[in-house]
Amino acid sequence: MRVLVTGGAGFIGSHLSERLLARGDEVVVLDDLSTGSMENVQHLVGADGFRHHIGSALDEPLVAELMDSVDCAVHLAAAVGVRLIVERPTHTIETNVGATENVLKAASKQRRPVLVASTSEVYGKSASVPFAEDDDLHLGPTTRSRWSYACSKALDEWLAFAYHREKGVPVVCVRFFNTVGPRQVGRYGMVVPNFVTQALLGKPITVYGDGEQTRCFGHVQDAVEASLRLLGSEVAVGHVFNVGSDREVTINQLAELVKERTGSSSEIVRVPYEQAYAEGFEDMPRRVPDLAKLERVTGFRPRTSLEQIIDDVVAELRSKGVGGA
Ligand code: UDP
Repeated sequence: MRVLVTGGAGFIGSHLSERLLARGDEVVVLDDLSTGSMENVQHLVGADGFRHHIGSALDEPLVAELMDSVDCAVHLAAAVGVRLIVERPTHTIETNVGATENVLKAASKQRRPVLVASTSEVYGKSASVPFAEDDDLHLGPTTRSRWSYACSKALDEWLAFAYHREKGVPVVCVRFFNTVGPRQVGRYGMVVPNFVTQALLGKPITVYGDGEQTRCFGHVQDAVEASLRLLGSEVAVGHVFNVGSDREVTINQLAELVKERTGSSSEIVRVPYEQAYAEGFEDMPRRVPDLAKLERVTGFRPRTSLEQIIDDVVAELRSKGVGGA
């Protein structure tokens, strides 16, 4: 199979491309290297069946041309990371909606299957956990930038299902919950690489708010496995799936665990949200996926423990010399 991976030089995209190649598929990566990087795929350049294009998924003719050369697509290219979203809301909305429209339009010509990456952010600030795919979405007001990301990804999902119903494009939407692993960078605010870097450098571990907010962290390899099973499933077509882990931890517990796994003596400090982000920032109190639908359709259950996830991130950062070799 030939697969177009938009955002293929990004965190999830590079792992997915690697796995596709390993199982004998051909991969065409499209990435503008905005948050992704060539370093993530350098080891794949020159491998049999691997091609990459540095360009934007907002480039409609380019997306159309690449789509014509493949059998299906995984659309991961998007503006991601809470910090980026809060700082550049215009870019976020335009990129996320425009790119998805291009991908779906191109796929509709020959009804190429598309897996569209979405996010747990679409559930918004609902406190009724776990979140099931058919639940209502509870977004905050339009005056708060954060929710523009959730809204742009929800619109991507609506667009995908519209293309499915009206034009017969076989689409599957995947809502990734907090996904972690090697190659994720802390620069855009993601908590695990941030905490691990701080711990390895002996700097204060910055817990935002009171730290009692919860998340469930899944390993990127598990997210890739679940996505590939969904891409290959006819039953999944026309549906949306949660993908992640359902082990819930508070951010305070995460900070303690990172300290423990790194053996760090860093102090854990609380940083008010207004200082970490911007005035009026709204966080989600809890975020837990209901994984029943994913398991029913694919048989998949997350396999990697949070301890293992942290250890993988620690090993990667240490190998890059963070905190000394
Ligand atoms: N967070 C934190 N310290 C950091 C970065 C993030 O306490 O240095 C918190 C953040 O406020 C949120 C959680 O960790 O409650 C997860 O943040 P992340 O940006 O990784 O993902 P989100 O779930 O918010 O998309």
